[in-house]
Amino acid sequence: MEFIEDPTRMSESSAAARKTGRTVGFVPTMGALHEGHLDLVRRARAEHGQVVCSIFVNPLQFNNASDLANYPRQLDRDIPLLEGAGCDVLFAPRKDALFKDFVPTQYDLGGLDAHWEGPSRPGHFQGVVNVVERLFFHVRPDAAYFGEKDRQQVTIIRHMARTLHWPERIIPCPTVRASDGLALSSRNQRLNERERAMATVLYKALGRAAELAFLQPLPAVLAAAKDILATEPEVVLDHIGIAHPDDLRPLVDWPETDTAVALIAAQVGPVRLIDNITLHRPAKADR
Ligand code: AMP
Repeated sequence: MEFIEDPTRMSESSAAARKTGRTVGFVPTMGALHEGHLDLVRRARAEHGQVVCSIFVNPLQFNNASDLANYPRQLDRDIPLLEGAGCDVLFAPRKDALFKDFVPTQYDLGGLDAHWEGPSRPGHFQGVVNVVERLFFHVRPDAAYFGEKDRQQVTIIRHMARTLHWPERIIPCPTVRASDGLALSSRNQRLNERERAMATVLYKALGRAAELAFLQPLPAVLAAAKDILATEPEVVLDHIGIAHPDDLRPLVDWPETDTAVALIAAQVGPVRLIDNITLHRPAKADR
């Protein structure tokens, strides 16, 4: 695997791959890699001749200084994991190089940041879109892979790619979970054993919503999910709600669509965790 720090060299590497007929699949990450990230890399590997993964802890998307300071950084561990997953190039730019001559853009996010993570993390999605634009500019991928774990993020990136006519295809990929349902996240490393056990309540609450979705009135389903959360009083809820699958606008009634999305964010010990699940309208025979 090639290790590239210099953004200009990154562009040259993708151009060289393309010259030999290879398409470029790209997985942007902040490192401290786990199976969720590696799943994206493997998917890119299956679909492209050249696979690039970036590791860059993006200061623009942190709205909490201690979260940024405590974000795990472990490049030595990440490198063999990427090699094992079949990555060709690790792009790990330095902050000053990536942001050379950079003037942040205030993007029109089409109101997609008005709910859920948007109000809780002011500026977060602007920071994400700004850095994704920078990374795309240097990597020039044909397709980029994002986890549905960060559902609002991938919804916003897909919207930006469409409205700004970015040439990259945006590919959402399913959330990878631990065997007890907890969505894998680099931040999980900061949970102690007790907190790690408590954190499973997020998935349990979403699971309850998935069982009852479209069968009971939406507010009753939300109430049932909140009852599950209440079984772990130390888990501090930030938000839970049900949203339209296309733009994640909050819903008060079930939509006409066959799916909806339940989203949750909660503080568990030192970390704020997010998760979401797709809710399916049961087939007629099951109702
Ligand atoms: P991060 O390093 O947390 O910024 O994540 C990099 C990419 O990996 C993003 O597209 C995330 O949505 C994705 N990702 C993180 N955790 C998971 C997971 N458990 N399952 C699938 N994708 C994930």
